[in-house]
Amino acid sequence: MDAVRVENLVKEYGPIKALRGISFRIAPQILFAFLGPNGAGKTTTIRILSGLTRPTAGRAFFFDVDVFGEPVKAKRLAGLVPQTINLDLELTLYENLLIHGLLFGLSQREIRRRAEELLTFADLLPRKNHKVRTLSGGMRRRLLIIRALLHQPKILFLDEPTVGLDPHIRRRLWGLIKRIQQRGTTIFLTTHYIEEAEFLADRVAFIDRGQIVIEDTPKALIARLGEFAVDVVKEEGLETKYFRNREEAEKFALELSGQSQTITIRRVNLEDAFVYFTGRKV
Ligand code: ATP
Repeated sequence: MDAVRVENLVKEYGPIKALRGISFRIAPQILFAFLGPNGAGKTTTIRILSGLTRPTAGRAFFFDVDVFGEPVKAKRLAGLVPQTINLDLELTLYENLLIHGLLFGLSQREIRRRAEELLTFADLLPRKNHKVRTLSGGMRRRLLIIRALLHQPKILFLDEPTVGLDPHIRRRLWGLIKRIQQRGTTIFLTTHYIEEAEFLADRVAFIDRGQIVIEDTPKALIARLGEFAVDVVKEEGLETKYFRNREEAEKFALELSGQSQTITIRRVNLEDAFVYFTGRKV
């Protein structure tokens, strides 16, 4: 049984078509990334699946639970890490977790136990009784993530979890996200950082203008183009050609080397696949 099954999701805001019929499935314990430019419909999808907005049309299931038919049951199965940090800065880390736990109907004893475990897991235990205001940006993100895990959801929705963070802190968060997956949680991640999806995701869907353009493993998406790319800087701009192997790429580059052009040979990456399949840059 799939952890998440989405069928033909449509969302219209008046004349704006935010989602134009999106369908996908996520097997249990998979990390699935939704990759797309600003305004593509990533947040709208997460808001619908976490019960914050009703779709115009479509169906969704978490395991065998109908997300729109049994919203309370569905909410218990899902944890949401929103894009904006909506923690209470004047409360302590523990108090923020306590409020969230009470909202989910957990007992104080259970919340204490889970909070200790999760604060330890995210290296935040020494800060337990400090105000959130005193935390760095990376620490606030980690708290936001473990808060979503307090009620032990089976599916975690992460909306741009590393936006605006420096590369060191982003990598640390990637480690945390991977460890959450390894503990058995299915993860739905949205990002517009391609390297984030390439590093973290088992499967990637490219979304553009409210539609899924293509979905596959990062490796398979890259392999559809080839293994090596040759970038040629021309007067008209950058042109990239893809080749099955290094030999073919080198042969092509050698043929051009007589002309005064800047030529680079490199491995194909997921950004190439995105540009190729969506016809534009993230
Ligand atoms: P970002 O990377 O900027 O978060 P996104 O892929 O998450 O982008 P969405 O926020 O889902 O994109 O937006 C999809 C489209 O729906 C955009 O055109 C956006 O302007 C529109 N939209 C989103 N929320 C609303 C709303 N409440 N009212 C009207 N239009 C909306």
